[in-house]
Amino acid sequence: MAQGDSTVAFKTAPGFCPDCGSILPLLGDSGGVSCYACKRNWGPEVFGDMAMSYSIPFKSNNTYAQPKQTDDKEEDGDGPIVERRCPQCQNDKMSYATLQLRSADEGQTVFYTCTKCKFKETENS
Ligand SMILES: [Zn+2]
Ligand SMILES: [Zn+2]
Repeated sequence: MAQGDSTVAFKTAPGFCPDCGSILPLLGDSGGVSCYACKRNWGPEVFGDMAMSYSIPFKSNNTYAQPKQTDDKEEDGDGPIVERRCPQCQNDKMSYATLQLRSADEGQTVFYTCTKCKFKETENS
């Protein structure tokens, strides 16, 4: 009977089915939509004033801070200590580090560092 201003019983958000509250698909070319959930057909009026603005505050989930991986080994040149006589100070302990140079068939270069005087020596294996 109250047919003038078709006020829905409850004010739904634009784009939601006034009957079951399900979100409605976008308005089709036919000028109406049918609710996925309750299969009722609705005219464009169910979208209400949706035409003026349709903004959903999307909350980005991309704000998760990546845990910073500090995998950096402290490359201070102090590797494992081997017994090796330093040609400079006759200390008998040197640390060593290996480095693969260029391709694999080139072999390794071993870097020795005197633990005492920091004399550096390289040796190709
Ligand atoms: Zn519905
Ligand atoms: Zn030395």
